[in-house]
Amino acid sequence: MKKDLFGAHLSIAGGLETVFKRAAVVGAHAVQIFTKSNKSYFAKPLVAGEITAFTEAWNQSGVAVVVTHAAYLINLAASDAAVEKKSIASLRAEVERCVQLCIPYLVLHPGAHTGGGIEVGVEKIAQNLSAVLSEVPGDTMILLETAAGQGTAVGSTFEELRAIYDACDTEIKHRVGICFDTCHVFAVGYDLSSIEAYRSVMEKFDAIVGRKLLKVVHLNDSQTVCGSRKDRHANLGKGHIPQSVLHAIAHEMSERGIAVVLETPSVDGISEYAEEITFLRS
Ligand SMILES: [Zn+2]
Ligand SMILES: [Zn+2]
Repeated sequence: MKKDLFGAHLSIAGGLETVFKRAAVVGAHAVQIFTKSNKSYFAKPLVAGEITAFTEAWNQSGVAVVVTHAAYLINLAASDAAVEKKSIASLRAEVERCVQLCIPYLVLHPGAHTGGGIEVGVEKIAQNLSAVLSEVPGDTMILLETAAGQGTAVGSTFEELRAIYDACDTEIKHRVGICFDTCHVFAVGYDLSSIEAYRSVMEKFDAIVGRKLLKVVHLNDSQTVCGSRKDRHANLGKGHIPQSVLHAIAHEMSERGIAVVLETPSVDGISEYAEEITFLRS
């Protein structure tokens, strides 16, 4: 039987390679990590020993896909030039770390235009993404995550995500993809309250963005209602998206080779994920 791609965002406390021990405990075949603190722009460069330890532990694990989530501070659409410059440098370092660790996907929040307007934001994100990817050769793709629609966030609609992709340089387009977060998409107003509603959302996604760009799904329930524009993740079955819909999304995506990563609330970073992955496999 083909192995599913269910997993979770797990901690790297104690060293990057320790994530694979946690993955084994929760039964994850896909993991998402921060390769450095998610609250700072920069980190010490990786040393050879860290890279080897990570690669060896990965090879010996049951994990098929590793995904990195970029730091939250990065804002490629910032109207403040200093923030934009720092964000570009920080993203470049994130891509370099992924390339060193052979991590195929780096999930990035597209950005917030902070007053500059959506169109300017889209243009800036595309230009800055293109510059970073052309400066850092390798196979790592940057996946733009569907935004929850808070504040001046860019990339909360399928049209905006497509516009960013279209505005990227042709030479690097093969390294740009999408991460679909069920909680965020629901918060923006895409209805996931039934299987039929989900199917029509995916039809829209296919028509506007294109299924081939979709590489990772963040499987989260939402504490707030559809259209709330609030980013409040809930455990599966504890929010407003029916558990049966989330179960169906997970199976459909995994069968297509798309990694399904939980980012649900967890007290210890382990127990809820173990339960939720067991549920997904049921
Ligand atoms: Zn995110
Ligand atoms: Zn997410």
